[in-house]
Amino acid sequence: MRTVEGLSSERAAQLLKQAGPNQLPVEKPVPQWRKLWGEMTHFFALMLWCAAALAFIADMPQLGVAIVVVIIVNGVFAHIQQERAQHAAARLRGLLPADVAVRRDGTVRKVHASELVVDDLVLLAAGDRVPADVVLVSASACAVDESMLTGESDPVTKNAGDLAWGGTFFVNGYAEAAVTATGARTRLAGIAALTSGAVSPPTPLALELRRIVRVTAGMALGIAAVFFLASLLVGFQWRDSFLFSIGVAVALVPEGLLPTVTLSLAMGAQRMATRNGLVRNLEAVETLGSTTFICTDKTGTLTQNRMNAVEVFTSDGTVSITGEGYAPTADVRGNGVERAVQVALAARTASQGRAELHKGQWRAQGDPMEAAIDALARRLTGSESVSVPLRRLPFDPVRRRESALVGPDLFCKGAPETVLPVCESVPGPLKEQVEEMAAHGLRVIAVARRRLRGNPEAWLAGTAAELETGLELLGLIGLQDPPRPDVGNVIRAARKAGVKVAMITGDHPATAAAIARQIGLIGAPEYVLEGADLPEDEQMLGALLDRDGVVVSRVSPEQKLRVAKALQTRGHVVAMTGDGVNDGPALREADIGVAMGRSGTDVAREAADLVLLDDHFGTIVSAIEQGRATYANIHRFLTYHLTDNVAELTPFVIWALSGGRFPLALGVLQILALDIGTDLLPALALGAEPPGRRVLARPPERRHLMDRQLIIRVFCILGPVEAATEMAVFSAVLAGGGWARGQLPAAGLLMAASGAAFTAVVLGQLANAFACRSATVPPWKLGWGTNRLLVWAVLGELAVLTVCLYVPYLATLLGQAPPTPLGLLLALLAAPAVLLADWIHKAVRARLRRA
Ligand code: ADP
Ligand code: MG
Repeated sequence: MRTVEGLSSERAAQLLKQAGPNQLPVEKPVPQWRKLWGEMTHFFALMLWCAAALAFIADMPQLGVAIVVVIIVNGVFAHIQQERAQHAAARLRGLLPADVAVRRDGTVRKVHASELVVDDLVLLAAGDRVPADVVLVSASACAVDESMLTGESDPVTKNAGDLAWGGTFFVNGYAEAAVTATGARTRLAGIAALTSGAVSPPTPLALELRRIVRVTAGMALGIAAVFFLASLLVGFQWRDSFLFSIGVAVALVPEGLLPTVTLSLAMGAQRMATRNGLVRNLEAVETLGSTTFICTDKTGTLTQNRMNAVEVFTSDGTVSITGEGYAPTADVRGNGVERAVQVALAARTASQGRAELHKGQWRAQGDPMEAAIDALARRLTGSESVSVPLRRLPFDPVRRRESALVGPDLFCKGAPETVLPVCESVPGPLKEQVEEMAAHGLRVIAVARRRLRGNPEAWLAGTAAELETGLELLGLIGLQDPPRPDVGNVIRAARKAGVKVAMITGDHPATAAAIARQIGLIGAPEYVLEGADLPEDEQMLGALLDRDGVVVSRVSPEQKLRVAKALQTRGHVVAMTGDGVNDGPALREADIGVAMGRSGTDVAREAADLVLLDDHFGTIVSAIEQGRATYANIHRFLTYHLTDNVAELTPFVIWALSGGRFPLALGVLQILALDIGTDLLPALALGAEPPGRRVLARPPERRHLMDRQLIIRVFCILGPVEAATEMAVFSAVLAGGGWARGQLPAAGLLMAASGAAFTAVVLGQLANAFACRSATVPPWKLGWGTNRLLVWAVLGELAVLTVCLYVPYLATLLGQAPPTPLGLLLALLAAPAVLLADWIHKAVRARLRRA
């Protein structure tokens, strides 16, 4: 049964048990085998399938079987990584806040949306996501955005008695509504079941990776084809030429790369979540790393959002109120207390937020500013009774005021510049008083009243414009909202990291400037823009980019959008915060839309890429840090993984150039064993490298994953060193075994030499793994303990090496034998050789950078 008190909590619990949680049914998951199949039929895999088929046709069944094994191992591995990444993403989604205000046991409380049951009475306000299918019981100026159901983007007006569907957004007004259907029985669930096949467009990172895949695969095929033809011309048997070109292709394809990228993004996202930054899609991790400009709002992000009304100004003078938090006791001083009482009561009537006692602590329920006004009224009058308005004209960021109709009176509160113009007469000193209070960093609210004449019914239908005119100004309230204590340091850290910060606020310019000054965001000469007269793009960009920090005050959501777009035309990667119903477009347009987890609306969260679980500005900066670290990790293991391509390709090139007279040092199967055997674990471990201390000490760089630095390091320095030691070891063992040029070496000798060459490459890569940990300092300057995973991975790599050499069947299959003592000794030199080359490279680069 529905009552105005709402359900009792026992009844709700009972219903919840019967109906199950209010959640959309999990989409029917794609069966595991289908996903696994997908991993074995993508582009790389198809190339390998072709190679395997050709191997069988060319009567090389061992090679064919081996390639198939590679495809399967690789596919299973990729599948496991994808699953892990998806689980991580799902866990993150579970952290997203989803509280709903609901009447239970006669009071309003917050419950998680999944706990709603049929007949619950929920309170909805602009910005909320409708948590289930509901029927509106009472409605005030309600408009609902149903585009996710109907595709129609204009909001639909709703009155009492109308239905609203779960999953749509309340964009205006407020209402009380009774739940009619939850979870799988909602209309959205029906539609979601129909559209679950829809795919979202690829993100920039996905495109970049796809390009790397195409380029490397194309290169591999091209080079293989050239070598195939060349070796035929040189006079090889076509079977040998074929074997040779498959080797080249397989050597160049970076198997196992893509899933490793996905997994390291997921791990980055998880690290962000432990620091209260929640990304809503994995690719945002990478974009965060390249952010160059943060546009942040003030209230709650830079400040504590713990409001305290400290001053009331009326025509009788100033009253100052000194009280702690939202408690009703305070020290009241000054002139005109009677009028101040009037101001406080009027402002409270036009407010919905309240101060409430919870477990012996006074805290804000709803908007902290309105809770502070409630506390102010209690402090001045000792009374907590509030008259229930007949009608509300809720706050919106363009009008910047809010009114409530009680009996014949309309009470209005809002930003002075929007309230004073609708007042009948404003005493001169008042405007000066606004500036004066704002200059002290106070948020100033003007409070006014209008006595309505005539038929009250007529007023119930009037628009905001009709009602909010000819007001009588009662006074001003000044509220304090202290900056967060550590925000100054964070701004300094952002600057050091080359990230510019602008405060974009709806507040008064003087208030905003005062706060900005306190946190060191703006220095002399101060620069404060106003939304209403933003200059032309060129001039605005000059202001935003030439100074350390800028304040843009009194902005509307459209102006936010304009700022983001303008910055992007200059190549900036913009993170923009937003909390309101109308911030959606700006959040979507920005490269990183940032919404608040605690305050702010569901609409904003839905449009955002990053949700700050603690609403703290510092969380954006630490998310940037994690994003950079993750990008660096991807870069690290790409460097690592590509290096041995050179060592894999070189034997073929030498073999071909010598017209087959110099024996082949590494066979195709050995190459595969390197790429998906010994290389994988260290690559994974490099993807887990914790952020370096200096990640934020550098300016941001937007670069391709395959940049010049990587290409030089891989193909001109470390790769050739690995290849040189490999070939040196190989020929030394051959020569030591009595091989003379022009002859065919004995099979046993060739296999031992090949085993030694293989060992040299693995040990070279082992050293390379440590070298790749940093792009600037040699590995011995890094702590061992910071990446334990790498130590384990390297031990795993050595185990795989041992198995490949000493398990007779496997060794024979790969075409190698345990190296002779001389071979082993020489192969051990590969590690110091790589470390030496890396050290010289880094030292030279450091010297060049300094010059
Ligand atoms: P901020 O950027 O500091 O979050 P907002 O956009 O939330 O600023 O608010 C802009 C201005 O609108 C405030 O300075 C205040 O004057 C007014 N305002 C904000 N909230 C309310 C409210 N609940 N009722 C009346 N006026 C409000
Ligand atoms: Mg705000």
